[in-house]
Amino acid sequence: MSTYPEPAVTFVRGEGSRLYDADGRAYLDFLSGLAVTSLGHAHPAVAEAVCDQARTLLHVSNLYGTTIGPEVAATLDRLVGDGQSVGGRVFFCNSGAEANECAFKLARRWAGPGRHVVVSAYGSFHGRTLATLHATGQPEKHEPFQPLPEGFRHVAWNDAGALEKAASGDEVAAVILEAVQGEGGVNPATPEYFQAVRRICDEHGLLFIVDEVQTGLGRTGRWFGFQHFDAMPDVVTIAKALGNGVPIGACWASEQVAVAFRPGDHATTFGGQPFATAAARAVLQVMQDEDVPSRAQSAGARLRKGLEAIPAVADVRGLGLLLAARLDGVDAKDAAARTLDAGLIVNPVSPTALRFAPSLLVSDEEIDEALGIVAEVLA
Ligand code: PLP
Repeated sequence: MSTYPEPAVTFVRGEGSRLYDADGRAYLDFLSGLAVTSLGHAHPAVAEAVCDQARTLLHVSNLYGTTIGPEVAATLDRLVGDGQSVGGRVFFCNSGAEANECAFKLARRWAGPGRHVVVSAYGSFHGRTLATLHATGQPEKHEPFQPLPEGFRHVAWNDAGALEKAASGDEVAAVILEAVQGEGGVNPATPEYFQAVRRICDEHGLLFIVDEVQTGLGRTGRWFGFQHFDAMPDVVTIAKALGNGVPIGACWASEQVAVAFRPGDHATTFGGQPFATAAARAVLQVMQDEDVPSRAQSAGARLRKGLEAIPAVADVRGLGLLLAARLDGVDAKDAAARTLDAGLIVNPVSPTALRFAPSLLVSDEEIDEALGIVAEVLA
């Protein structure tokens, strides 16, 4: 269906930070899907795990047990705790939107009848299903699909006062925020904001849901974006990088919140199946072996410094390897089209900014090559 514009390029193969079109032309991929292939394309360990699992067991219904899902859940719980298990629980699904849907249903179940409202921020992005679209704080995206499911309220981003006002109603159950607004333009939260949100949620008895679909699993230089801010959420949603391209999402919740779900409250045919969780297990193993948060920090610092040195770049925002370069008097869409022509994939995250989200295993040489292309195109 015509939900996407006509593509400028069609890719047939990938390896590490490179994608290849049908003519064999190579492109440096500094977008990684949309922050999905954090280990690069065709990572051997992930490819091996996926092939092996396909030969062993692809699918079992969730009416029966499997061994891999619980293992991945335990690892995610440890990473949410920054290396220390916190005893939370995980529901596996197939996408970021589904992880957020799970979080909203869990919040309603936890809060009880009459408390169903979820507060989110303007500029946020939480998905394209009807509920996650309403949570998404971009009213222009709502209009063609009205009426949307009731129960979502939006407040100004990084404004604790606005959030406190919206959160004080009796019908409010939860707050959902990104650590860095990705689709909204790569706008990081401040530590003060996240700490204030934690306090407000505690004072009003609300769940603090952090949407780490784009920021999670090392991309920002910590395992999860909220870990920069010293504010522990009650629920964390994860997807994109978890399967390095194999569709999988996860909704983590602390034990005392997760128990609000009873058997039959929520379900999925495909979520948690051996195939996707085998990919996730391999991804998380490589991520830990390679210490991807540290790599995102050091590679991110190199990329940021290089971008800041380009005359047409006004400033650079973001964390780790989720960065946006604000351009000075250059249309970002035009710039992205020209970098693609020059063999580099980036994306115009706003009319004035280019987003950079390369593989977390990107080499210094690849960063320097990308910087050279950006500098030439902008010049
Ligand atoms: N949440 C955030 C922060 C996202 O960036 C996205 C996708 O870009 C989503 C949710 C939705 O994820 P999906 O497209 O897998 O449904």
